[in-house]
Amino acid sequence: MVDLKGQYLRIKSQVDEGIMEVLTETSYINGPQVTAFKDHLERYLNVKRVVPCANGTDALQIAMMALGLKPGDEVIVPAFTYVATAEVIALLNLKPVMVDVDENSFNITPEIIESAITNKTRAVVPVNLYGQCADLEGIRNLCDQRSLFMIEDNAQAIGADFQLNNGEKVKSGTVGHIGSTSFYPSKNLGAYGDGGALYTQDENLGLILHKIANHGQTKRYYHDMVGVNSRLDSVQAAILNVKLTYLDQFAAERRAVADAYDAAFSNIDAIQIPYRVAFSTHVFHQYTLKVNNGKRDELQAYLKERGIPSIIYYPLPLYEQKAFVKDANIHFLPITDKLCKSVLSLPIHTEMSTEQIAYITEAVIQFFK
Ligand SMILES: *Cc1c(COP(=O)(O)O)cnc(C)c1O
Repeated sequence: MVDLKGQYLRIKSQVDEGIMEVLTETSYINGPQVTAFKDHLERYLNVKRVVPCANGTDALQIAMMALGLKPGDEVIVPAFTYVATAEVIALLNLKPVMVDVDENSFNITPEIIESAITNKTRAVVPVNLYGQCADLEGIRNLCDQRSLFMIEDNAQAIGADFQLNNGEKVKSGTVGHIGSTSFYPSKNLGAYGDGGALYTQDENLGLILHKIANHGQTKRYYHDMVGVNSRLDSVQAAILNVKLTYLDQFAAERRAVADAYDAAFSNIDAIQIPYRVAFSTHVFHQYTLKVNNGKRDELQAYLKERGIPSIIYYPLPLYEQKAFVKDANIHFLPITDKLCKSVLSLPIHTEMSTEQIAYITEAVIQFFK
């Protein structure tokens, strides 16, 4: 699905130099590399504050902890997402309210959110799924009207541009009160281990996020609140600092693969190529087809026989996961259910050759002949 080795070899000298610096300085924890990467990411995203942390799941948890929510408060999340989004909500004794998504964009919309708001709703977590933004401005406006917090789970869409109604472009993850991201190796900005970050335009919220991620302290051994230990280590920061300079180029390379797939598949009736919304660029964390003739699993087996990997993100709606079924308020959602049965993600990464793309597209075309 990805070629992390090939990508490493392309940027090896810079990455090795960054890692060696950490080793020679023995600045393993909170080294200057962490500050340098934080500053770099703040400039790239044009945000007031980035708070690095240990992984994308922690980032979501820290975001939830920063909002002062109380047990039983409701947080609206898509049912069609990675488990982390809902998991941290449940972990903090908050109530994940799972909603359906738009069939084309795979994301939640202001209309869907609005129909799920109750007097206990406190926050909404849009996920910018597969690398494309949800209608962030519409969702933010709704949240402002109803006094709700908006946390963007931006683990899959770092680097995407969102276009505001006034024509201005901002980075994904910066429209909500807090954005969270993951540097898991296969993410668009991937470390060589775990990593994550939070970002916000609100200085005050930024201080709270920083404090929570650091045992509730700003001064060492003085703890103002109960926090967690969630750090990005210096080796990962050094690697990410190099990779951030390539993020836009890497996104363009992924988009070129997606364009080639689109061109090859656009007249196959049984599949639907990824829909591209007008208000967001797509950074193609995943290239996800919808197989509409019920043969998704057969296509996957056919590709596997030919040595082509593919993955179903995600095979089971969150409300059907054993971890969540016990919650009586969770209901069947028809579009999520349908997507779980029809989506298939094909290999997409920065090192794909024309031959590989041709081999994959040929196989898909053959299957539907
Ligand atoms: C990867 C991912 C996460 C979690 O990130 P980790 O770094 O693996 O903890 C959260 N949400 C979404 C949508 C993701 O894709």
